[in-house]
Amino acid sequence: MKLLLSAGDVGEQRCAICERKFWLGPATAYAISDDNVLLGETCPACLESGPQEMERELEWHARMSRWVAAQKEEFAREGFSEVPSLEEYLMAERVYQTPLYRSAEEADAAIAAGGPGLLDEND
Ligand SMILES: [Zn+2]
Repeated sequence: MKLLLSAGDVGEQRCAICERKFWLGPATAYAISDDNVLLGETCPACLESGPQEMERELEWHARMSRWVAAQKEEFAREGFSEVPSLEEYLMAERVYQTPLYRSAEEADAAIAAGGPGLLDEND
């Protein structure tokens, strides 16, 4: 893996190593694998931390990605028991044009009086 300096687009970016957002100036440090896979822009903090810390950062994100993937597989196996149709969703957008309550106090009072809470079942 290597980091190559080049001119880039100035603006907010997400670091390819630590995944934090950072402000990219006119110079860009691109992380590129030995197989020439472009990982992306690298933030100055990662550059400052050095190669060993960047390797640890990548390993940590790889472990997190495996954990997230396992969670998503479990959720997918669980499956969906209830899914509103797009038509129902669009109807709800028309019905809920404004927030249900104007304040937390109003919501608390309504819920105390038996009104709808945000997580109430709709049936
Ligand atoms: Zn970084």
